This record gives sequence, C-alpha cells and structure tokens, in this order.
Amino acid sequence: MVKNMKALIGTAMDIRSIRKNVAVLIEGERIYDIIPVDKIKEYEVDEVFGGEGYLIIPGLINSHTHVAMTKFRGLGDDLPLNTWLNEVIWPMEMKWDRKDLRKWALIGLMEAVSNGSTTVNEHYFFAEEIARAAQEIGVRTFIGQTVMDLIDFPLAEPKEGFKFFKRWKKCRLITATLAPHATDTVSRDLLEDIGNFAKKENGLIHIHLSQSREEVRKVRKREGLYPVEYLQKSGILNENLIAAHGVYLTDREIALFAKSKATLAHCPTSLAKLEGAIAPIIELWKAGSNISLGNDCAASNNSLDMIEEMKMTAILNKVKAGPEKIKAEEVFYWATLGGAKALRLKSGLIGKDYLADLVLLNTKKPHFLPEGYYLSHLVYSAKGSDVEMVFVNGDVIYDTGKFPKIKTSFSDL
Ligand SMILES: [Zn+2]
Repeated sequence: MVKNMKALIGTAMDIRSIRKNVAVLIEGERIYDIIPVDKIKEYEVDEVFGGEGYLIIPGLINSHTHVAMTKFRGLGDDLPLNTWLNEVIWPMEMKWDRKDLRKWALIGLMEAVSNGSTTVNEHYFFAEEIARAAQEIGVRTFIGQTVMDLIDFPLAEPKEGFKFFKRWKKCRLITATLAPHATDTVSRDLLEDIGNFAKKENGLIHIHLSQSREEVRKVRKREGLYPVEYLQKSGILNENLIAAHGVYLTDREIALFAKSKATLAHCPTSLAKLEGAIAPIIELWKAGSNISLGNDCAASNNSLDMIEEMKMTAILNKVKAGPEKIKAEEVFYWATLGGAKALRLKSGLIGKDYLADLVLLNTKKPHFLPEGYYLSHLVYSAKGSDVEMVFVNGDVIYDTGKFPKIKTSFSDL
C-alpha cells in the first residue's frame, strides 16, 4: 500500500492515448499509475482532484519566453520587429531594476502557469531574479542569463552568463542554461566559448535564430554565412541547442538544422505579429527536426498562454502551407513531448514514472460540446481559462485563480 498519494480523476489525454474515467495516481514527484476510476478504493489516496467532466493533460511546455517582459505588454504594438526592439524595448530594458524585474517575472509566471504551463524555458537579464520568482511560485524553469558582445548592452555582459550557470546549475526546479542572445548580436569567439563550456558541463544552449530579415542580412554580411551555418561553424549546432523562431531558414539550412538534432522553438503568434511571417515549421518537421512551442514574451504575443498558442500554431501554419498540412496531433506533440525532448525531461506524457507535471481542465462548458473530440476541442476550442489546476512535481501550484505557494490570487493583483 502506497501512502501520501494524490489522484486526478477524469479523461487523461496525452499524445499516445485518450483514457476515459481514469484516476492518475501521483506519488511524490512522479506519476505512480493510471487506473480505472472504480479501482481507486484499492489505494490509500489522501487527496482527490477533478472528477466527471475533467480533462487531464501533460503540463504544457513554453520552450521560449521572457516572462518579465510582461511589463512592456501593450507598448510598441503594430511596429516591425527591428523598430520595436531598438526603439521601444531595449531603451526600456536599460532601465530595469532588480526588484521591479522580479515583480514582473512573477506576474508573467502567474499568467503562464494559470494557462497551463508547467515548464518555461526562459532567456533574460537578471536571470537570478527570475529563478527566484520561479522558485516562489513552484514552476519548473530552465533559465539562461542573456549575453551579447557585438552590441554595447551592459546588462548582457558575457561573463555573467557563465557565472549564473555555475551558481545555479541544477537547483530542484531550476536548471541553468547558456543563453547567447542571437546570431547577429554574438560573435563567433563567444559562441565557441559557450559551446565548449556547454559541452564540459552538459548544459543546454538557448538562442534566437533568424528572427528578422535584418538578422539574416547582418550575419551574411559579417560572416559570409547564413545563420544556421554560422551556428554550425561556431560548434553549437547539436542536440543540446534550442533555437527560437527560425523564420527565414533556407532549404539548405532546414536540412542542416534537422540533421543536427537541435530543437526549433516555434513561437508563431509573436513572429506573425512582429514580422508578419511564419517559420517553415512544416518543412523542418518533415525533414526530421524536433519542434517545440513557445509564447515568446507578453510584449510581442501579447499573452503567455500555451493553449491559445496551440490554436495559433495550427491556424497560422494552415494559412502558410494549406489546411491539410498541419494537424492537431502535431501541435499537441510540440507543446508537450517536443518541449520535453528539447529540455531532456521525463515529462510530456501521462505514464508511469513520468514527472507529475499535469494540468486539469474543466470541460463542463458549452465550447466543449459535443462531448468527445478531446484533442480537437483542446487545440481548437479550449481557452487558457479552462485550466482549473496545475501540478508540478506532484504539488499544486495553481488552483482556480490562486497560487498556493505564494499565497497570492488574481484578486491581489
Ligand atoms: Zn525571444
């Protein structure tokens, strides 16, 4: 008999299966088993959540984000990327102070968690403050201190990136990464140093790639290479790389990227808004690349909502490539297992011994009718606000508008 057990009751859906009327049993940080709900009496269960009309899914993985930028939501809307970044965002970012940044990081994390994210892959300045905000709320967080050396930006000092990694490395829910900003703002020497360091430490590298036409132009002019070739020549194009965006990849770059086993973090809403463009995700997927999904930041998205992102991913890619070229299954895979694979996590599935990072959605609402069609309803009809509870490592970190770990609720904001 196992003690201290939690049970989530409802329909459990991951990318492999849909199981109706089950109890997902959680023991400690892991999923203990998935059993028919009528067998629950055979276990000594301490707490029961959900019930009829609930959908249980693996926690969604936001694989590229900058949560503190929630502060800049609504600023510089409807501008092209380079004007937005150079004239609106960077001048604001120069003025960050630690305390303020931590407050906005926490607000961003609250939004992400309340919409079903159990893991975020963060890339920003003052990484330590974001790590502390993540520890407070209890969300699984990968985080790298953003570094650049080709432009003068005091918050992005290269040595701070290595320092942060050494200090945090792996600290329960926090995993440090290396975070060179982008191919046009980081030199080959620095990328090589980061690559060697990451290899020695078995760390992940998280970078922006081909986010704007301007970035591609600059890299070609400076290096005589396309951005993916530049990553390869710098020695960081491998399975430990997560590159966000990849909007302007050429066919050659797609083949190279897919062969490398790196992950492309697709953030369609943000880049559709900033560049009016969609990455060649379907081509990358066909070529065998791993794909994950991300919200990017609330200044460009303007939400931190992975459920909304799934729908946008499907719809925007249909506009680009045709309605039959992308299916709900693929989008759900990218939002769960694709992210888990990129971050080397045993999550993204509801199975024995998987991390108990789970989301409970209340489907007793008109937009979930007719009943059934679980996957279609999740990707095309569900809303972030359907998320009722969020579990990370088996702990409740969100419960109907409240965040038990920080004793804060929506009404306190
Ligand atoms: Zn970004």
